[in-house]
Amino acid sequence: MAPAAVRGPVARPRTTMPGPVRIWEVGPRDGLQNEAAIVPADVKAAMVDRLAAAGLPVVEVTSFVHPSRVPQLADAEEVMARVRRRPGVRYPVLVPNRAGLERALASGATDVCVFASATETFARRNLNRSRDEALAAFEPVVAGAKAAGAGVRAYVSMCFGDPWEGDVAPGDVLSVAERLLAMGCDELSLGDTIGVATTGQVVGLLDDLERAGVGLERVGVHFHDTYGQALANSLAAVERGVTTVDASAGGIGGCPFAESATGNLATEDLCWALAGLGIETGVDLVELVATSVWMASVLGRPSPSKVVQAMARGLQSGGAGQGEAR
Ligand code: MG
Repeated sequence: MAPAAVRGPVARPRTTMPGPVRIWEVGPRDGLQNEAAIVPADVKAAMVDRLAAAGLPVVEVTSFVHPSRVPQLADAEEVMARVRRRPGVRYPVLVPNRAGLERALASGATDVCVFASATETFARRNLNRSRDEALAAFEPVVAGAKAAGAGVRAYVSMCFGDPWEGDVAPGDVLSVAERLLAMGCDELSLGDTIGVATTGQVVGLLDDLERAGVGLERVGVHFHDTYGQALANSLAAVERGVTTVDASAGGIGGCPFAESATGNLATEDLCWALAGLGIETGVDLVELVATSVWMASVLGRPSPSKVVQAMARGLQSGGAGQGEAR
């Protein structure tokens, strides 16, 4: 519950919108991997615990990439050991290869994510392989994860634009998506890695996927806010039938391997918008904002989220000047 004088979103449900949306929280992984500050393992674990306590059903914890690749997440085992897992919450981790998968499973991970690219250039730059070679390399990783009973999500980067190649053909995204699902991935996350997507592109790509037989219940979306479109694109996807949306608490993070990428969609901004449509997320927005305010102090810079900024002012002033009590 919000303190009495802190304004919360007013809901006016629309019957044309779908049911509950599952927010896939990526802040501890996708957020922190792009922060200059190295956050101690106990603080990372506390962040994960607070996000789960705020009602987020999926909290991506860390990445088992080689520590030299992402020094910010070099303590993956330690963070996994410190997280106090709540029943019903999923704690996925990124795995780049078989070695990463073995480390993740040894740390008790029950959900893993692989990451592919829709474009050739990003595959070569981020994965050091051609796009098809990278996909082939994931086959034994996905098979190994499935054999261990783990859930597998596949991230697809550069679905809507690529900094080196420019436009991305929807057919390229479709072929990568179909191949990842065929090798056994349970679900996909379509990434707008550089934040250039438009709502027209988003709905069009979802149309293409559905026409090709890909059920949208297996498709999540992951938007960045470079052009200020992350929330609009997310809502367009939800209206089109997507029920999993990625977001990062406080809007932290981006992608350190893609020039011109900016921050992730802030979880708070998404929660506010979905609540206004009467769409259930299960998230306690006040608890979430308090967590992001705390993380902003840890990182030494304010949250870029407008909802965090506005609600934090209300929380700090006891609600004075924030409009009517709710
Ligand atoms: Mg991201």
